Order: sequence, then C-alpha cells, then structure tokens
Amino acid sequence: MIIDIPKNSDFSIHNIPFGIFSTEDRSPRAGVAVGDYILDLAALAELDVFDFNTAVFEKETLNDFISLGKEITKKVRLDIQHWLQDENSILAGKPELFIKQVDAQMHMPVYIGDYTDFYSSIEHATNVGKMFRDPENALLPNWKHIPVGYHGRASSIVVSGEPIHRPKGQTIPVGADKPVFGPTQRLDFELEMGFITGKNTNLGESVLTSEAEEYIFGLVLLNDWSARDIQKWEYVPLGPFLAKNFASHISPWIVTLEAFETFKVPGPKQEPEVLPYLQYEGLKNYDINLEVAISPEGSEEQTVCHSNFKYMYWNMAQQLAHHTVNGCNINIGDLYGSGTISGKDENSYGSMLELAWMGTKPLKMKDGSERKFINDGDTVTMRGFAEKDGKRVGFGEVSAKILPVK
Ligand code: CA
Repeated sequence: MIIDIPKNSDFSIHNIPFGIFSTEDRSPRAGVAVGDYILDLAALAELDVFDFNTAVFEKETLNDFISLGKEITKKVRLDIQHWLQDENSILAGKPELFIKQVDAQMHMPVYIGDYTDFYSSIEHATNVGKMFRDPENALLPNWKHIPVGYHGRASSIVVSGEPIHRPKGQTIPVGADKPVFGPTQRLDFELEMGFITGKNTNLGESVLTSEAEEYIFGLVLLNDWSARDIQKWEYVPLGPFLAKNFASHISPWIVTLEAFETFKVPGPKQEPEVLPYLQYEGLKNYDINLEVAISPEGSEEQTVCHSNFKYMYWNMAQQLAHHTVNGCNINIGDLYGSGTISGKDENSYGSMLELAWMGTKPLKMKDGSERKFINDGDTVTMRGFAEKDGKRVGFGEVSAKILPVK
C-alpha cells in the first residue's frame, strides 16, 4: 500500500469516495478520501494519468466530473484503488499528492439543483402516525402503495461542520386559538441517507427500477433538520414548508453506489403487492450501520440512536422510478433524501420526536442534563458505515452545532 490506512477507517481501499476540499495554499478542488488523507485529484491530473479533460477536477463542485458518466467515474475509482496497492505506481514517492484531512477544509461536493425528500421508513411513518393521528391506523391508506415524498429546498443544504442558528417561526400554543412567533422549542434532527443522481433525463422520460442504479452516482449522510412545533401548525394542507427548509446538512464525501455493491441485502416484504412500475428484481437495500450522537456544549458525546439503512421499506430504485413515472426530469447533482430511518427498537429511532416520544421520555446526557429535543450549543453528529468480511466502507460523519436564534 502506498500510504497506511488505519484498520477501522471508513475510507478504506474498498471505498474511494469523492469530495471537494481546499487547503491554505490552494482553492477548492476534487479529491478522494484515503484513510486519514485526501488524494488530490487536481494535482494527480497534472501527472497526465487520465485520458479525459481533467479540468473537471479543478471545479468547485463534482457535477462536471460526474457528468462524464459512470464508465469514466468508475474507472477513475478502480485506477486509484489499483495505484494505491501498487508500490511502483504513479503514486509512489509522491507524498505531495496526499493532504492530511485535518489540514483541509471540506466544501459542498456537488451543486444541488433540486432536493426531494421521501418518507420511506415504515417504522418512522408508523411512529409519527401513532403520535399525531390514530395508533390503530398509523399508516395512511396511500403509504404502502406510493413512496411518499415532497419537494424540498436545495438552497439551504450545507456541508458538515457549518453551524446553524435555531430557526424562528409561527407555532400554536396548546389550547390557543392564535399563533405566536418565536424560536422553535422543538428543534429535531432526522437521520437520513441521501442519494445523488449522476445522469440527466429529459422531460417526459421515466426511469425504470431496473435502470435506476445507472442514474445514482453515490450516497451521503443527511441530517434533515426539522422544527416540530412549526411543522405541526403549518403543514396543513400542503405539507412541509418552513419547518423543513431552514437547513439540511450532508456529509462531505460522496460514496459511490459501486462501493456498496457487496453490502446489498433483501428489503422488507412489500404487502400488498405494489403496482408494476414499482416492482423490482434483485437486492436493492443496503446494510449500512447508522448512528446519531449528541454533544452538549463542553460535554462528552452521547450516542442516542443505532439504526440501519437496510430497514427502508421503499428502496432507492423504487423512489427514482416513482419520481420520474409522470415524466418529471432529473438532473446531475440532485439530492434525494430517504426520509428518517428508524428501526423497530426504541434505540433505533432516527429522530428526537420518536426517541423521546414527543417529550414524554427525555434522554439523559453524560453531563446529567436531559433532552426532549435539541438545545442551543448541542452538536449533532451522524455516522454511517458498512462492514463485512473485513471490508469497511463508510461516510465519516455529518456534524453540526446549533447556535442560538439570530
Ligand atoms: Ca426528512
């Protein structure tokens, strides 16, 4: 191996995720994460090792690189894997190509034109239905027939590490007939995975479930922040709005779909049978461990959730097939959120709303304080990785601190 990769690194030789980074001496450019380092693709390209226009690595986002198509992007990943393992490769004796991750700043990896958020975890949808509607009929009649989703806001998606201010808005106090205005009292995270599309369609075209993987470049961790009290008042009848669009965070490294190929697993049985355009063949779920931790200001981190991407009822191929079945076009760099990923166990719920069950079961932090929702000064960190037969492929983390209201 050209450089040492720590045994438990998310960024193993099996991963090779793409991102955009900058250093003190050079502006944002493309790189891949390898162990504790970043392989500088713009610098590597100067050695003339690629047979395409490598100006794509000098850009501030990966959109142009992704638009080269999977044939090229897959080959870049395989070449790098090969070079890293060959002591005599082009990477040998060139430490200047490897930048320590701690010395780099990460940026948004893609320009996101459109953001769609699904609601595809049956455990999450059931929990929310139990809390807000009827425990006996928690799922609405459409839920097992449609991968329910809504169009979100792309402008407020930011990269891990960027702190955000507590949002303000309208809420309705219990028993009141008029709303009040102020900071949200129920700031929540949503543990999600996001996929980024790598191929355009034209208006009027649809993507089949069997083709969907050709359209998915890779995955990121997504914290889709929510203000539950604002949401409760505003969502009727058109759905999520200001309770959802004040910020969402993504992890900086896009892990390619190919890197997760060996971690495919069967999804839950879908009963009743779904309509033909949503049917699929093969393994479409992914065994990716997910966790969430809260660090109160000046205190130790407390892990509050262990979940898994494999719990999803609706898979990404079905989501994309559904999204395009009416002819809605998709673009390179679009982001699609899975929806909050909850499991069956109480410690696998992917939001504070569920973990503390609407504030009725507060969580204990290591400093002795309790959390029903997220406090000012708290840092919420999500991590995700797949592991099998000694191979580990992960995202690192998406982490952000909540600042007081502005
Ligand atoms: Ca969401």
